[in-house]
Amino acid sequence: MLAVRGTKPLESEQLRAGAFLNCRTVYYLRAMLNDLPSDAQVLDKLKSTFGYTTFRPLQREIVGAILARQDVLVLMPTGGGKSLCYQLPALLHDGVTVVVSPLISLMKDQVDKLQTMEVPATFINSSLDASEVGRRQAAVVRGAVTLLYVAPERLVMPGFLSLLSSVKLALFAIDEVHCISEWGHDFRPEYRELKRLRELFPNVPLAAFTATATRRVQADIVEQLALEKAAIFRGNFNRPNLYYDVRPKKEAYRQLTDYLQQRGNSSGIIYCQSRAGTENLAERLRRDGFSALAYHAGLENDERRRRQEAFIEDRSSVIVATIAFGMGIDKPDVRFVVHYDLPKNLEGYYQESGRAGRDGEPSDCILFYSYSDVIRQEHWIDQKSSETEREIARQQLRKMTDWASATTCRRRLLLAYFDDSLDCEVESCCDICGEPSQMVDFTRLAQMFMSCAIRTGERFGRDYLINVLRAGNDERIARNGHDKVSTFGIGRDQSVDTWRDLAESLIQAGYLHREPNEYNVLKITSMGREALSKREKVTLRVAKSREPGPAVSTPQPHQELFDQLRALRQRLAEERKVPAYVIFHDSSLRQMAAELPATREEFARMQGVGEKKLRDFADDFLRVIVDYSRRTGAEPTKITPPPERRLEYSESAQESYALFNRGLGSEDIASTRGLAISTIEGHLAAAIEAGEDVDISRLISQPKQEVIETAINELGPLPLKAIMERLGEGFTYSELKYARAVW
Ligand code: ADP
Repeated sequence: MLAVRGTKPLESEQLRAGAFLNCRTVYYLRAMLNDLPSDAQVLDKLKSTFGYTTFRPLQREIVGAILARQDVLVLMPTGGGKSLCYQLPALLHDGVTVVVSPLISLMKDQVDKLQTMEVPATFINSSLDASEVGRRQAAVVRGAVTLLYVAPERLVMPGFLSLLSSVKLALFAIDEVHCISEWGHDFRPEYRELKRLRELFPNVPLAAFTATATRRVQADIVEQLALEKAAIFRGNFNRPNLYYDVRPKKEAYRQLTDYLQQRGNSSGIIYCQSRAGTENLAERLRRDGFSALAYHAGLENDERRRRQEAFIEDRSSVIVATIAFGMGIDKPDVRFVVHYDLPKNLEGYYQESGRAGRDGEPSDCILFYSYSDVIRQEHWIDQKSSETEREIARQQLRKMTDWASATTCRRRLLLAYFDDSLDCEVESCCDICGEPSQMVDFTRLAQMFMSCAIRTGERFGRDYLINVLRAGNDERIARNGHDKVSTFGIGRDQSVDTWRDLAESLIQAGYLHREPNEYNVLKITSMGREALSKREKVTLRVAKSREPGPAVSTPQPHQELFDQLRALRQRLAEERKVPAYVIFHDSSLRQMAAELPATREEFARMQGVGEKKLRDFADDFLRVIVDYSRRTGAEPTKITPPPERRLEYSESAQESYALFNRGLGSEDIASTRGLAISTIEGHLAAAIEAGEDVDISRLISQPKQEVIETAINELGPLPLKAIMERLGEGFTYSELKYARAVW
C-alpha cells in the first residue's frame, strides 16, 4: 500500500501554473512503479462509465493527484466539472470514497446520476428512516458501496465514525468546502467539525472542492482543514460559455418577455430582490403564457421542494427566485440567468450568474440595471446599524455598480475582481466586447447626417434632421427654407429607424452632442467636425439585434428529431423518476440529432454515452433516430462553424500596428497605450488578417506556426479552445491567434 503522505507535497505558492506539472510528474513516476492505473485505464473509465472522451481543464491533473493519494484543494468555477475529479478516482481506488455534501437534495441528485451509470453510490442522511439507514450502512460494511454521500453533521456522529473506522477508506471528498469559512457567502458551522477527520483518519487523504475564489476564503480553508501540504488547483474562473449582458432597466418587463419568447422552452432563473417581487413577476409571466414559478425562503418547505423539482425536472421552464434559490442546484442546462434587480455585490453576482451553463453550452447572464435600484440599495444600507457593515456594503455596492456601468470588457473586470486575468479567447464575450463584430462603416451616412445638422445651423433635434434628410412631412422645413439645403431628401433610401439608430450611435461615439436644455438640439462636437473635414472613416456600433445565445461551433441538429429525442428522454425520465438530464444532457441529444447514429457502435461514440447508458438507452433512442432518418431521408449534418466574428481593422488596431512597426513588443504597446495585452494581441491579429505586412517572426516561431496551421486544417479555425486542446502544452492563446490570423 502506498504511504499516503510520502508524496512530495506541493506548496500553495506552486498553485496556478506549476502545481499540476509537479503532480503529473509524481503521478507518472508512481504509475511507472505500477502503483497507479495507467493513463489509458483512466481514460477508459472516463469513457466507459461517464461517456466522456476528454477531460475538462485541470480534471486530469486533479484525478492524477487524488490517485496518487495526495491531499488536494480545488477551486474551480461552477460547471468546471469538480464532481468527476473525485468520482473517477473513486472507481479506480480500493475502498470507500466518502463525499461530504451540504444539501440533501444535492446528494440524492448526484446519487441518482451515478446509479444510472451503474456506479455503486448511495447516501445516508436524515431523509431516510432508521431501517433504511441500517440497510445502507450494512452495504457499506459489505464493501458494496464505492461512493458514500453524507452531510457534515452526520459524518462526525460517533456511530458513523465507528462505521467508518470499520471499513477501508479511500478518500474524503468535501464539496462546497467554502462553507467552512466565515468569510465565504455560505458559512455553515457544522463544517467546522470536519477538521476532526484529520485527527481521526490521518492516513486518509482529503480532497476539498469549492467554486468560491477569493483568497481570503482559500486561506481559511487551508487553515481549518490543515491543507498546508495539499496540492492546490485553481481553475480559471473564466466561464467562456457565458455571455454577459447588462441592459438598461427600461421597459424591463417587455425586454424580458421578448427574450423569453426567443428562448422557447429553455430553462432559466430570474433573480429578484424581494419575495413579493418574485411572486408578482412569476404571476405576471404566467398570465402572459410563460411557464414560471416563484421561489423564496418564505414558502413552506414542501412547497419549496415541489417548485424546485418542477424546475429541475423541466416541468417549469423559468424559476423566479430570491437568492435563497441556488446552492445545490446543479441543473446543467440552465440557459440563462437574469437579474431583474441589481445584486448587492459582485461575488454574489458571479455565483448566481454562474448557475447558467454548467454543461458548457452557450448561456446568457443578463442584468437589468437602473440607477433607481442603486438608490434603493443605498437606502437599505443606511438602515444597517453598524457603521463598519454600512461601509463594507457600500464598497461592495460600488464595485457592483462600477461593473454594471463599465465601458470595458465585463468578463475581464469580473475576473479581475477574483484576481484572475483573462488569458482565454472568448468568441462571444459580453455586450461590450461582443460589439466589435457589429462595428459597421457608416462613413457616408454619418457625413450626410452631420452635414445636415450643420446646414440647418445646429438648431434642431434628431427627428427634424431626419425629416430634412428624407424630405419628410414637416411644414417647418419649408418655413425654414430647409427644403433648399443640399442635404434635403438625400437620405430617402434609409428608413427613419436607421437614421434614428445612426444619430444615437453618433451621440454615443462622441461625434454629436445633445443639448438637453435646448430642446434636445443636436450639435457637432469637435471630434465630429474633424471627422467631417478630414473625411475620416466613421465606424459605429450598431444597435444590438443579437440572436439568443452566443455563437459557438456546434453541429446543427435536425430540429424535429431533437424535439422527438427530448420527448423520449422526458418519458424515460418520468418512468424512472429522475430529472431528464440524468438520462442525457441536451448536448448529447443535439449531437444525436445532428450526426444521426444508426448503429450501437455509432451511438456509443456520442458524448455522455457510457456502457451502462448504451445498454439502457441505445435501443430506444436508435429506434427514434433511425425511424426519423428513414422517414425524412435526413443526412447527418456537419459541424457548421458560426460566421467568424471578425474584428474591424479599427483605428485603434492601426495605432497598435504602427507601434509594433516601430519595434515595440506587445507588452510595450499595451503599457504605452494603457490597454490590456490581449487587446493588443487582438489588434495585431486583426492587422495580419487585414493583410498588413506584419513581421510574423517577431510574434511566433515558424515551426510552431506550422504545427498550429496543421491543427487548424484538421479542426477548422474555431473554437480556439478545441485547437488548444489538440496542441497540448507549450502553446499560448496569443500564438494561436497569430497563427490563425496568418492562416
Ligand atoms: P461543478 O461541480 O464544478 O459545478 P459538475 O461536476 O456539476 O461541475 O459538472 C458540470 C457538468 O459538466 C456536469 O453536467 C458534468 O456531467 C459535465 N462534465 C464534467 N466533466 C466532463 C467532461 N470531462 N466532459 C464532458 N462533460 C463533463
